[in-house]
Amino acid sequence: MVSLKSLSRMELNAFYQKALADYEVCKEKKLKLDMSRGKPSKEQLDLSNRLLALPTDGSFVIDGMDVRNYGMLEGLPSCRALFADVLGVKPAEVFVGGNSSLSLMYGVIAKAHTHGLLHSEMPWSKLEKVKFLCPSPGYDRHFTICESFGMEMIPIPMTPEGPDMDAVEALVSDAAVKGMWCVPKYSNPEGIIYSDSTIARIAALKPAAPDFVVMWDNAYCVHEFEGGFVPFKNILSECANANNPDMVFEFASTSKVTFAGGGVSCFACSVDNMKYVKKLLSAEAISFDKINQMKHVLFLKGRETTLAHMQKHAQILKPKFDAVMDALDRELIPLGVADYNRPMGGYFISLNTLPGCAKRTHKLMMDAGVIMTPVGATYPYGLDPEDKNLRIAPSFPPIDELQSAMDVLCVCVKLAAAEKLLGE
Ligand code: PMP
Repeated sequence: MVSLKSLSRMELNAFYQKALADYEVCKEKKLKLDMSRGKPSKEQLDLSNRLLALPTDGSFVIDGMDVRNYGMLEGLPSCRALFADVLGVKPAEVFVGGNSSLSLMYGVIAKAHTHGLLHSEMPWSKLEKVKFLCPSPGYDRHFTICESFGMEMIPIPMTPEGPDMDAVEALVSDAAVKGMWCVPKYSNPEGIIYSDSTIARIAALKPAAPDFVVMWDNAYCVHEFEGGFVPFKNILSECANANNPDMVFEFASTSKVTFAGGGVSCFACSVDNMKYVKKLLSAEAISFDKINQMKHVLFLKGRETTLAHMQKHAQILKPKFDAVMDALDRELIPLGVADYNRPMGGYFISLNTLPGCAKRTHKLMMDAGVIMTPVGATYPYGLDPEDKNLRIAPSFPPIDELQSAMDVLCVCVKLAAAEKLLGE
């Protein structure tokens, strides 16, 4: 196969006619396929069914307390220890919440607006403008949180090593810039792992805002599907060593370890932040669901057992990611009409079409019965400046459906690319 851009006009026209015919065949199949959201498949969820029957001995006492009763707002000590073990932080730095880390993230931003954070001069809602740094492409729900509080989002380009730190360092000299989203391991959607030097630069930022907050969403901290566990830096100690102990909140959950939306979430932060936030949270809840926390402690036990459990997820996920990447490598890469970063973990593949082709590809796919994440969703305000990014979520569909969906995707990318080149 040769690059589409090197074809003569006549050859390109023939390519276009073939792609159009292939597309009509796809449409005739009247498919109904969904590659839009990063949900675990039923097979993955089944891996944790045993958790539901715990505790098997009928005793609901753990850490000297009856988990069925009120108390321990910050979570069961053994569940704090479990997350501390996985994240490499101290149990005293961990707060275990309810079923969603996204809620905890929303909570931190909401409290910054209503009450202010530990070092805020005033609640953010009293400020004329609050700006937030949004590495893009990124996680659409982070951007939705920003939008719902009326914060101005500033897109930060992603590099193969993480956010463009030259841009970040320049922007934090503006006191209206109050924070930054980070998905440091297997970033959503590109599957990038931040390099050590990027992490060191984030930890050592010298923002003008005293209450600048790094929202360190470690959603995919143990989520390799290829190869063994990749260790990651403890962002809390990195920040503390750089004299920024209170600048970061780290988030994680078991949504993609046990049950999505039925697991346990946590944040980790400095002990001073913990004291401050715990006081605010005590106005909101008496305690979170310690019954589920106990089930997770009994099921996941510690870091090693959690990693062994994640390998079972990997066995299910790897063939699906391989199917997607094989199709891309075979059908699109040699033509020079798309590129992507090859992830080793996480839940997504971020595909870049030729500039100006993502919306068209997405529309062609929808018309052929394949649902994808809305185009632009991976950018603040839904605006992909180059109209080229498509997020592929391979985890949920069975592999045969995934292969059919990829056939359609490849045909649509080719057709959109040929249309564009012919129009130039
Ligand atoms: N953060 C990221 C980066 C995610 O991709 C997701 C789920 N897609 C979440 C957070 C949501 O996590 P939770 O279920 O714990 O709210």
